[in-house]
Amino acid sequence: MENSKRGCLFVVSGFSGSGKGTVMEWFRSRPDRYALSVSCTSRKPRPGEVEGVSYYYISHDEFRKRAEEGFFLEHAIYADHGYGTPKKFVEESLAAGKNVILEIELQGAMQVKKIYPDTTLIFITPPSVEELRRRLVGRGTETAEEIHKRLRRAVEEGRYMDQYDYIVVNDDLQTCIRQLDALMQAQRLRASHSAELIGSIRGGLKQLEREENE
Ligand code: 5GP
Repeated sequence: MENSKRGCLFVVSGFSGSGKGTVMEWFRSRPDRYALSVSCTSRKPRPGEVEGVSYYYISHDEFRKRAEEGFFLEHAIYADHGYGTPKKFVEESLAAGKNVILEIELQGAMQVKKIYPDTTLIFITPPSVEELRRRLVGRGTETAEEIHKRLRRAVEEGRYMDQYDYIVVNDDLQTCIRQLDALMQAQRLRASHSAELIGSIRGGLKQLEREENE
């Protein structure tokens, strides 16, 4: 029964510097439970990032071409770079009953919710703004201008935090992972996600009732 079900779709967003990248590594290491979508981006790889794992790195022109061709489920511009979710992977993984996670920003999250209204939107935040600033500046991989752009973006994202279904605080990494995992597993048990099971139980009950009345 479990595998005949369509998978659940999750969007995980969070401020740049919220630590969601590290959190997502755990989910990536659990392919038995989760399928993480790998996005395309027109930004350059950061040290340590791996093509096909962190992102598919493509040129601005290629990004534009794919966007026009409808290759993406959603796409957005973030800090002057294009980011997009390949549609095919998401559709095929959901149909195969997998729980799919998209680690994407606000605009993309809102687009996905429109296309798939039963998407669960999760926002990860550091425990305080001071901590956010410390993590963002402390990462040391961005220029001052990049940091400024991301801070400005964080202000905008803060305005939309309440559009998400769940807010998870990333104070302690293990706690954050545990909460997210529990939350995602629980979504699979929602009645709205079990139409097939409910139908079969109802059918069985009707049959029992008929037998009882005979
Ligand atoms: P970064 O450059 O730090 O890897 O990512 C910048 C932002 O882009 C992050 O908030 C990340 O979640 C978001 N992002 C990554 N992939 C996608 C995508 O496919 N679509 C959208 N809309 N945002 C994405």
